[in-house]
Amino acid sequence: MKLTIQHLSKTYSNGVQALKEVSLTIHQGMFGLLGPNGAGKSSLMRTIATLQEADSGSITLDDVDVLHQKEEVRKVLGYLPQEFGVYPRVSAETMLDHIADLKGIANGRERKEIVTGLLQKVNLYEARKKNLGTYSGGMKQRFGIAQALIGNPKLIIVDEPTAGLDPAERNRFHNLLSEIGENTIVILSTHIVEDVTNLCADMAIICLGEVVAKGNPNDLVAAL
Ligand code: ADP
Ligand code: ADP
Repeated sequence: MKLTIQHLSKTYSNGVQALKEVSLTIHQGMFGLLGPNGAGKSSLMRTIATLQEADSGSITLDDVDVLHQKEEVRKVLGYLPQEFGVYPRVSAETMLDHIADLKGIANGRERKEIVTGLLQKVNLYEARKKNLGTYSGGMKQRFGIAQALIGNPKLIIVDEPTAGLDPAERNRFHNLLSEIGENTIVILSTHIVEDVTNLCADMAIICLGEVVAKGNPNDLVAAL
């Protein structure tokens, strides 16, 4: 599986040019998109996730035209936005079951197996009956990953995931992402250099909407 972005540009209605001719090729494994606040990371992530239009350029996922075949993309996409809300008075187990149902997994027993597997994968099985409002920041992030993994996505987008996590939670979260990156494309957007050097095999640096460098994280960061 391969994601190809070519000459992607976006200017918002307030005149901010968030993306300028962005071109990237992203293969299976973990890809890091590194850039300071305001660089255009979320704009790019939202565009790949079919949540926002571009002004020009193209994105293809294998032979799918991402900007025009949104339904096709959504079938294989898992997206963890930068800020995602949880329903505080619903348990993780109930919420995942509900989302799996919405995603068309109709058989109750099958859903239960999928939900149990995901809760175990993200290490929330013990806490599955607790309401999401009682979860710590790290637990919420791991719940977000479980939610994004429903339906076995081939492309997973994680936008600024470790903000506000303590070091132990960050480690846990990183290990989880590495595991997932073994057989999918995982795009990790972050402003933290170590997130990329520790986890990603390939990366790009984005500043003021422009890709200013791409390649192997250790080589690029050594040159910074
Ligand atoms: P549009 O330009 O598509 O009409 P909106 O102005 O309605 O978009 O904003 C869409 C989303 O982007 C909202 O969630 C809004 O809070 C957020 N947003 C708006 N302006 C900015 C900005 N300057 N930086 C970051 N997010 C913004
Ligand atoms: P990052 O994720 O790297 O912080 P963003 O993609 O959120 O960058 O923002 C890139 C630029 O676009 C910033 O100047 C931001 O203020 C602006 N921006 C983001 N979303 C919107 C929006 N919906 N409407 C107007 N401006 C926006």
